[in-house]
Amino acid sequence: MNAFIAENLAHVHAQIGAACRAAGRTPDSVTLLAVSKTWGPDAVRQAHAAGQTAFGENYIQEAVDKIAALRDLPLTWHCIGPIQSNKTRPVAEHFDWVHSVDRLKIAQRLSEQRPDHLPPLQLCIQVNVDGGATKSGVSPQDLPALAQAVAVLPRVQLRGLMTIPEPAETPSQMRAVHAQAKALFEALRQQGLALDTLSMGMSADLDAAIAEGSTMVRVGTAIFGKR
Ligand SMILES: *Cc1c(COP(=O)(O)O)cnc(C)c1O
Repeated sequence: MNAFIAENLAHVHAQIGAACRAAGRTPDSVTLLAVSKTWGPDAVRQAHAAGQTAFGENYIQEAVDKIAALRDLPLTWHCIGPIQSNKTRPVAEHFDWVHSVDRLKIAQRLSEQRPDHLPPLQLCIQVNVDGGATKSGVSPQDLPALAQAVAVLPRVQLRGLMTIPEPAETPSQMRAVHAQAKALFEALRQQGLALDTLSMGMSADLDAAIAEGSTMVRVGTAIFGKR
């Protein structure tokens, strides 16, 4: 196996560190989620050997197979893709986190189907901050009611918000969208929800997301290569 995944990880950590310093934040205030969709277990093993433990997946069946093949490693698996309501069971049974909750029915099913021997499933609500018409994610207006309803479900723990902004034309436009997500996050905290996770920022908008308060960035291509 070659060393490029370890080199890429070191590069992404350096970028996160620089963005944190520029924002007056400590580097450990941002978690790197390695998005391993379409890559096989060997690539994940290489990343783990380089110190990476949190992995993001979009496609449920692919992820379930990969998780089974990597049972021997102490990894944390995050579902970041859209979930149809008839696909919640394998997610509840195999993942540690879900970032892409966009309606109550999904969260209710995940809570009902989470096996008792596992810790609560950690959830983020996906919010459609910039109003992209075809995108998944709850609208900012509907977010507070959804968050309050999810927060009381027994077998899940609401941790925060996830957002996938449209590419903006300028860095300041990009930051404005991230700032809106941060404001929604802080508003929920003020309403009494104990949230600590703002999943925001990918390869292209990592610096802007960290400047505006992201606590988890999701990076695939810059670690594993082009899909
Ligand atoms: C694929 C994906 C990523 C990673 O994207 P890259 O361009 O490969 O870095 C991050 N977040 C979500 C929701 C994704 O689907």
